[in-house]
Amino acid sequence: MYINITFADTQIMELRLFNSLGKSKEVFRSKNGNVVTVYCCGPTVYDYAHIGNLRTFLFEDILTRYLEYKGYEIKFVMNITDVDDKTISSSRKYNTTLKDYTEKFTNEFFKDLKSLNIKEASLYPRATEYIQDIENHIIKLQNEGYCYESEGSYYFSINKFAGYGRLSGLEINESKNKTRLNEDEYTKDNAQDFALWKSWDSEDGDVYWEGKLGKGRPGWHIECSVMSTKILGNEIDIHAGGVDLIFPHHENEIAQTEAVTKKQFVKYWIHAEHLIVEGKKMSKSEGNFFTLRDLLDKGYDANHIRFLLIASHYRSQLNFTFDGIKQAKENIDRIQESYSKVKSLETETGCNRVLSEITKGSIDSFEDAMDDDLDMPVALASIFRFVRDLNKYLDDNEVLEENKSEVLDYFKKINSILGVLSNETIRLDDEVMQLIKERDEAREKKDWKKSDKIRDELSKRGYVVEDTEKGTRIKRNQE
Ligand code: AMP
Ligand code: ZN
Repeated sequence: MYINITFADTQIMELRLFNSLGKSKEVFRSKNGNVVTVYCCGPTVYDYAHIGNLRTFLFEDILTRYLEYKGYEIKFVMNITDVDDKTISSSRKYNTTLKDYTEKFTNEFFKDLKSLNIKEASLYPRATEYIQDIENHIIKLQNEGYCYESEGSYYFSINKFAGYGRLSGLEINESKNKTRLNEDEYTKDNAQDFALWKSWDSEDGDVYWEGKLGKGRPGWHIECSVMSTKILGNEIDIHAGGVDLIFPHHENEIAQTEAVTKKQFVKYWIHAEHLIVEGKKMSKSEGNFFTLRDLLDKGYDANHIRFLLIASHYRSQLNFTFDGIKQAKENIDRIQESYSKVKSLETETGCNRVLSEITKGSIDSFEDAMDDDLDMPVALASIFRFVRDLNKYLDDNEVLEENKSEVLDYFKKINSILGVLSNETIRLDDEVMQLIKERDEAREKKDWKKSDKIRDELSKRGYVVEDTEKGTRIKRNQE
């Protein structure tokens, strides 16, 4: 069911997002008019991000780009987890200070974002910059009766928070808080009181703070509660991450935050499904992962990887294959070629009314799909339909001056979300360019046999060659 607002003859489709809190699609309404606050759980910088992590960050890029497309001003914060169990143990393993170690992987993460054309967040706070705020928050929790101390560590008492389990659907029973957990990561089966502040032990080496809570360091979950509310306020519009963060990370974030603020922490919890390999979640612990640099070193293009990772629905698992990257390339090329052709087109004045209607209708279909919980497969299908139609008009020289500007506007709009098209006019790959050159030379020498052979080769690669008065024209074979 769609909800539309109708103004005279204009229909404005509202954005609907699947809220993990309540598990249904809801119309998006920001708390403060035109401004939307978005907090995304960022990387734990103990290693290079793998492309599974990057799929989630790319989804968040699509989400924030589309909010901007809809005219919202976004305040978008992504934290950097630079102190937790994993960063401490890895930095000690490599005999480096925590700061040097995490700085290196933070910089590598920023490089990945750039390569994948992921837009910058407004702020990337590091957990280590918020230690005093974290201590203050824990003291407030203790004053409110949600937190207790044991052997120098501080724990959140999950039975004290009435709403615990609401996000993840966890059923709490009285036995749950019999023991306490020190680990940052655990499953619903062993949900127990979790650590807010961990007292120092020898495993932590020189990583500790000695303040109001004694010698120790924060747990992972409290970091996000404190950074998000400090920067974006107590009531945030959107909080996003991968589905593995629903429990315990986001469940714990809600408890720790709302116990102090008494306000609804986050209105829309949005979670992206995993990138999988042969049925299993891509993860460091499974050893079934690729980093972006692994793929770039193998000669793959970041633009193609971006397209592959954004093209399926964010709430569906995506199975990673190398063939998928190849298909992503072909799909981008298909859109790019039409776009480049229109850019370089010399048009006659006027407007082809039918094409004009098709162009407007295609923008509407794209927006309808994106409004429906960012349904990228449907949005892409509408783009490919448009490109196919447009190519027919291009072949028949029926793209006129007004059409050209409407069509260029169309490509600009879709690319503000996809972020994969280039402004260069020609973007055929080098081998295809070389074949065209060799064929032109063969034709000049009247070597028809060679020129036909190259035509066949181009055809195998999906191109149709036309010899016109103005020279060789090449287009994609649509079949
Ligand atoms: P981490 O660096 O482990 O804290 O994870 C960073 C982000 O990547 C989180 O939002 C995770 O939920 C997400 N993530 C982890 N593994 C995958 C995967 N295989 N596919 C998609 N997202 C993932
Ligand atoms: Zn987080």
